[in-house]
Amino acid sequence: MTSLIEIAQNDRNLIIIAGFALSSIFIILGILIGRRKYYNLIAGYNLEPKHIKEQYDIEGLAKHIGDGLITLGVLLIICAIFLYFNFLKLLIAAIFIFLFIVLIILLGSRKFMPYTQNLMKESPSDARHHFLHWLLPERIFRALEKGSRKWLQECRHCGYKQDYWEAGNVRYKAIGEPTQLQYCENCKKFRMHKIRKKTILEADRIVNEIIKTNS
Ligand SMILES: [Zn+2]
Repeated sequence: MTSLIEIAQNDRNLIIIAGFALSSIFIILGILIGRRKYYNLIAGYNLEPKHIKEQYDIEGLAKHIGDGLITLGVLLIICAIFLYFNFLKLLIAAIFIFLFIVLIILLGSRKFMPYTQNLMKESPSDARHHFLHWLLPERIFRALEKGSRKWLQECRHCGYKQDYWEAGNVRYKAIGEPTQLQYCENCKKFRMHKIRKKTILEADRIVNEIIKTNS
């Protein structure tokens, strides 16, 4: 810090020139990454193999990093100006803000990484149980899925069978074979359905379409 102040006092113009030069590097990088889609300028991403790259939310990541770099560039100019005028307290405050923004950029970018992206993806049948999936711990949710998938609903009108879980329903540790009003994908209408346990053959077929072709 002392040496910086000495330089600032000896050659103020140098500080401004260096500040602007560094700042323009940040801003130009920010524009290239965030606006011009030069994604390979993002360290780490550029070295990933293709199949990993595809799992990034790269547009979101690029905008996040690009905006961050532009903000840092503007802050650098402000830092240079504070140093130029010897506003040391303001300079220190600006440096803390700078470091804080670096932290936000680093922590925030995790949201766009493959690992988080995969966690956020739901299978189509998970999406039908969106609220339960959000509410329950994963282990209990999967236990409900396993229990419910032992059952199917069979349309009384057309005989179309659908996995009870895939249809958006939950049946866990239940007994009896009730009749319920459910939506039939085949009739495209609400119909009375027989709810029953799958036979061993049917239990092998998890996906509706496979059950359909076999019925
Ligand atoms: Zn039907």
